[in-house]
Amino acid sequence: MARVTPYKEALEVIEEAGGEALYSCYQCGLCSDVCPWNLVATFMPHRLIGESKLGLVDFESEAMWQCATCAACVKRCPRGVALIDIMRALRRTIVGMGIGPVPESLRVTVKNIAGVKNPLGEDPARRADWANELDVKAFTEGTEILYFPCCVPAYEPKARRMAVTAVNLLKKAGVDFGILGTAESCCGESVRKAGDEDLFTRLATSNIDAFTKNGVQKIVTASPHCYHTFKNEYPELDGKFEVVHYTQYLADLIREGRLKPTKELPLKVTYHDSCYLGRHNNIYEEPREVLKSIPGLELVEMENSRENALCCGGGGGRIWQDTKKGERFSDVRVQQAIDTGASVLATVCPYCLLNFEDSVLSENKSDVLQIKDVSELLWEAL
Ligand code: SF4
Ligand code: SF4
Repeated sequence: MARVTPYKEALEVIEEAGGEALYSCYQCGLCSDVCPWNLVATFMPHRLIGESKLGLVDFESEAMWQCATCAACVKRCPRGVALIDIMRALRRTIVGMGIGPVPESLRVTVKNIAGVKNPLGEDPARRADWANELDVKAFTEGTEILYFPCCVPAYEPKARRMAVTAVNLLKKAGVDFGILGTAESCCGESVRKAGDEDLFTRLATSNIDAFTKNGVQKIVTASPHCYHTFKNEYPELDGKFEVVHYTQYLADLIREGRLKPTKELPLKVTYHDSCYLGRHNNIYEEPREVLKSIPGLELVEMENSRENALCCGGGGGRIWQDTKKGERFSDVRVQQAIDTGASVLATVCPYCLLNFEDSVLSENKSDVLQIKDVSELLWEAL
């Protein structure tokens, strides 16, 4: 095992990320108790924190890349330790100083984003192709809303329906919105969590310039990850816009009477709180409000919901890494959904959607549980 002792520069980066709180950790281990990894394997964040304080970190260990940045530990820590910032700093140290391996699949993803501005390595000229048949206008100065689809619905056929349905709903409500298409880039969320701070800054700056040049003031995002990045991270680079997740926007449209779900959907549905909408941004009610507005729909809660929701395993760049069978949080979550008796698991995030779709297929559960985006259910009820 390659112990690095003490890498002064590495320690400085970690100290900067963890601040004073890093030293207030008293090794109670509560973070490890709530970490979802310990439902499927072993991962002890408190040990990493202890090692970080001492500058005794094994930068070559796979553990460096395990954290899904779900924030369960951050919510639980009684001493306010910024565990995710420290995890990110460890990765930044590895990438910046070249002192450990980066998982191959993540390395390829970051290379794709650097080259063609999307994680899937797709042609940037085809970024708006998802909207070809939808008659969506290009965003121009004065348009009220920028709809930002996220790279995954824009390019990944399995997630495209999220963006298509959102657009149909916005059109139905008569919302003045547009898209930037080829002028936009990946928001950079995975890149930052994969430790490439320079690339994140380049992507963020490019998006901020594109938004500003086109007169964007309000952005509706498909992904909770884009939402979090635009809302909480772009302001560090002077990118200040009004940002809402599409479920918040839909809840407003329903309240204002601009969308009226009238068709009965006699379904038992359970809702999965995405980590970046829920724990990271305290948005728990609006997606439920949209679901509750649907006549006939019965909303039931899973064993872990709201602040205690179980992560799907897709955050922190994990969506781009291979996770061994038996170690996927999404398999556990799908079973929790089935245990409620629901026939539909409703999601609000492209990563969750992909992970749960994979889980129902690999676990042979597609005959008992359907995965649907909240927007799809609303669309069916109109
Ligand atoms: S919960 Fe907080 S104080 Fe306790 S071990 Fe984890 S980081 Fe340290
Ligand atoms: S953020 Fe989530 S996955 Fe990462 S260490 Fe904390 S509890 Fe575990």
